[in-house]
Amino acid sequence: MAPFGPKIGSVPPTLRHKAALILRQAGWDLPPLPLVWSPRMTRCAGLFVIEKDARGVWRPEIRMSIPLLRRLDWPWPQVVCGVRCHTPEEIQARILEHELLHYKLWLDKVDWGHTDQFRRLAWEAFGHQSVTHGIGQEAA
Ligand SMILES: [Zn+2]
Repeated sequence: MAPFGPKIGSVPPTLRHKAALILRQAGWDLPPLPLVWSPRMTRCAGLFVIEKDARGVWRPEIRMSIPLLRRLDWPWPQVVCGVRCHTPEEIQARILEHELLHYKLWLDKVDWGHTDQFRRLAWEAFGHQSVTHGIGQEAA
């Protein structure tokens, strides 16, 4: 047992907290967006989606795969976004960074796909050497 374990009652940081931290470290002042865990996403680790609500307003959302991102038995290290990851936490952070970058470009009203601009920002902000997730199949 570690001498200084988590305090009783402490909870691990939520996706929302992690996303806020990533945005702060990148120096991006973006409004928070809904982040949801999906039990059904089995092929893609993370997804940035925009959907029209009942009023016809586009709403962004990031979906994270429970089956892929909570899996503990990967052969380590796993290369995700071109970065060697050694823990599920690291994989989760890389995927979240990638999806937040789609969100930033969407807010900037530029092509938010895997463009040269995406590639450059992914490298500059996060050190990503690849725009493919590396686990599951790449979708967005
Ligand atoms: Zn993508």
